[in-house]
Amino acid sequence: IYGEARPNARGVNLANEIEVDELAERMQKFARSRWDVTPLLAGDMISEATATVDNCNPALPSDVVGTVRDATADEVVAAIGVACDFAPHWDRTPVEERAAALVRAADAMEDNLPEFMALCAREAGKTVRDSISEVREAVDFLRYYAMRARKDFGEPQVLPGPTGEHNQLSLHGRGVFACISPWNFPLAIFTGQVSAALAAGNAVLAKPAEQTPAIAAAAVRLLHAAGVPREALQLLPGDGASVGGILTTDPRIDGVAFTGSTETARLINRSLANRDAPLAALIAETGGQNAMIVDSSALPEQVVKDVISSAFLSAGQRCSALRVLYLQVDVADRILEVLEGSVTELVVGDPRRMSTDVGPVIDTDALDMLQAHARRMEKEARLIARARVPDSLCGHFFAPCAFEIDGIGQLEREVFGPILHVVRYRSRDLDRVIDDINAANYGLTLGVHSRIDRTQMHVASRIRAGNRYVNRNMTGAVVGVQPFGGERLSGTGPKAGGPHYMHRFATERTLTVNT
Ligand code: GLU
Repeated sequence: IYGEARPNARGVNLANEIEVDELAERMQKFARSRWDVTPLLAGDMISEATATVDNCNPALPSDVVGTVRDATADEVVAAIGVACDFAPHWDRTPVEERAAALVRAADAMEDNLPEFMALCAREAGKTVRDSISEVREAVDFLRYYAMRARKDFGEPQVLPGPTGEHNQLSLHGRGVFACISPWNFPLAIFTGQVSAALAAGNAVLAKPAEQTPAIAAAAVRLLHAAGVPREALQLLPGDGASVGGILTTDPRIDGVAFTGSTETARLINRSLANRDAPLAALIAETGGQNAMIVDSSALPEQVVKDVISSAFLSAGQRCSALRVLYLQVDVADRILEVLEGSVTELVVGDPRRMSTDVGPVIDTDALDMLQAHARRMEKEARLIARARVPDSLCGHFFAPCAFEIDGIGQLEREVFGPILHVVRYRSRDLDRVIDDINAANYGLTLGVHSRIDRTQMHVASRIRAGNRYVNRNMTGAVVGVQPFGGERLSGTGPKAGGPHYMHRFATERTLTVNT
């Protein structure tokens, strides 16, 4: 898959002041824009409903990003009907047409970087760096799945015909796919799910996270303008219980791509299984209880740099983020001393400023959950360090912090935010540490810091995790380079941005002709 030239999304050279200033100026145009959201349906709007709610900036709740009007139950049911009728047509549309529409969308998204960055900042509280990476990842997904579609969904594969028959194998869309996406990568994961499903030949019903519908609506408008028919892609804003509930119980849905919590993935799995309907595919990418193991041969400064970026940047709101850091006792104090200084120095603040390291968390529920966990840790664990939230901030800001605990077993579940847990271990207990990490039953990311090849491979081969990183940070998987996704409680696979992802959105058919 890596053998061919694939143009990567254009980057921004943050060291070049002229380039950064120009970008800031172009973003500034969207500082007061309003992005109102309604369902984007192919049929006529059939709703009487007019109730809208304000969609606010998590860094500054008085900044209204726009209003949101959710899809009604009738609209969801009607949208499924439209998608069902259109799916066979879309599947028969030449793959080249489907792929070309995605590539046009990628180019348009790249050209509209400042608006998408402004949306990521104002609706999701993303920092400048995270907003750039977010848009680039979405662009990469569009181009990557277009490339995969051309490769795997074009001409049927001719198979041997030992008895004189002609045999071939081809891939087809499954029918109607529901894509249910999270707020933490409101553009990248949304676009990734939707573009894979579309490129494979499915009609798509997209339900964005309640917190970030405007980013999703902008992406859908852009895909429509690039040539994806409205019948092939409809946007259904709304919450999980209503819109998500209808989508996952309707017998006409052939597959669901979901990224979010393990609990919700279980609910969806049960809903799909309980339908009196053809068996549906579930692609779930869920949480993690991600660990990093550091032995005494590691370089302390490099460790701290990678820990800071893995645990605290993006406000720890990545499912790949580091949650439990295991330090070999011989180096623990040295590393903790540097780590303490670095955590204290983290700049928590306005995500639009280049100097900000950590922006807000997504909403008050997230903030409450993190504060409750930190209070529990203050009683049960030792505080290592805590950053400072300036009093001038009035959004959903949480001070990144680190606690020393006894082991991963002390944590019941994933805590989604900038809280790091640190555990000391003795070198002779390494295998017990490995067993403890596996016993948590997640399997998303793993970090190893060691300059000993044998240790690197020993740890990486024994810990069951989908993405394993040695001597670097453990977030920021790149499309086509580090296909992303986990196993066990962390997801069903296949990996997003990898060569097998689109196959799960497809069904395989053979054709045998007796010549
Ligand atoms: N792909 C992202 C990364 O490698 C994480 C995706 C997620 O948080 O869902 O950091």
